[in-house]
Amino acid sequence: MSSYKKPLILVSNDDGIFSPGIQALAEVADEFGDVEIVAPDRQQSAVGHAITVSTPLRSRSFMIDGRFSGQAVSGTPADSVKLAHNQLLNRKPDLVVSGINHGSNAGINILYSGTVSAATEGTILGYPSIAVSCTAFNEDADLSGSKDAARKVIGYVLNHGMPRGVTLNLNVPEGPLKGIKWARQANSRYVEEFEGRIDPHNRSYYWLTGKFQLLDQDDGNDINALEAGFASLTPIQYDLTSYPLLKELENIEL
Ligand code: MN
Repeated sequence: MSSYKKPLILVSNDDGIFSPGIQALAEVADEFGDVEIVAPDRQQSAVGHAITVSTPLRSRSFMIDGRFSGQAVSGTPADSVKLAHNQLLNRKPDLVVSGINHGSNAGINILYSGTVSAATEGTILGYPSIAVSCTAFNEDADLSGSKDAARKVIGYVLNHGMPRGVTLNLNVPEGPLKGIKWARQANSRYVEEFEGRIDPHNRSYYWLTGKFQLLDQDDGNDINALEAGFASLTPIQYDLTSYPLLKELENIEL
């Protein structure tokens, strides 16, 4: 053995360590280096960038599919990546990948997504990071195209790196890969509704439902690419400052 070390790739997600998507992503990562899986021990979709501060975090070791060693964390996706970085990994990862999420994380979904936040946390910690999502929600979705797209993007990032502060957000339609398009985040929102029901103790409860609404009229966004059957790849950043507006506003005396 030479002293050459294969890249270490940290794999996380928000659907939980036992989701088919994370195993699919670990299989792709395994082609490039050593894989460590550290992910929530249960479904954590749509928790955004939440972190756990008022209860302890625990982790348990698992073998996944007899192939991958994994640690299931009793917290959020961002917790999992933080804990991996700070306590659980023997060396620093060369890359953080999150997914393959079951469901799209294009448009406004980026903001709610735990999948994207696991990758964003990797970026905050200084690692090149990629979020991967398949637009199909079902657990038995055909992830072949998502795996192919992830393979291309992982290969690119390991060779070229990523500027600090930027995360790549990859979304892929179900089935074979047609191609990958660079895209920006579509201007979109949810038109939300709550379905009100009554529980057996005669108390009201509410269940969030909603329709995705595309507000974007211009080409080149992630939803366009996905609707045309392509995977979308968006460089995103956690610096939320509006620089053009700041430039205008900083001349105003308050
Ligand atoms: Mn999810």
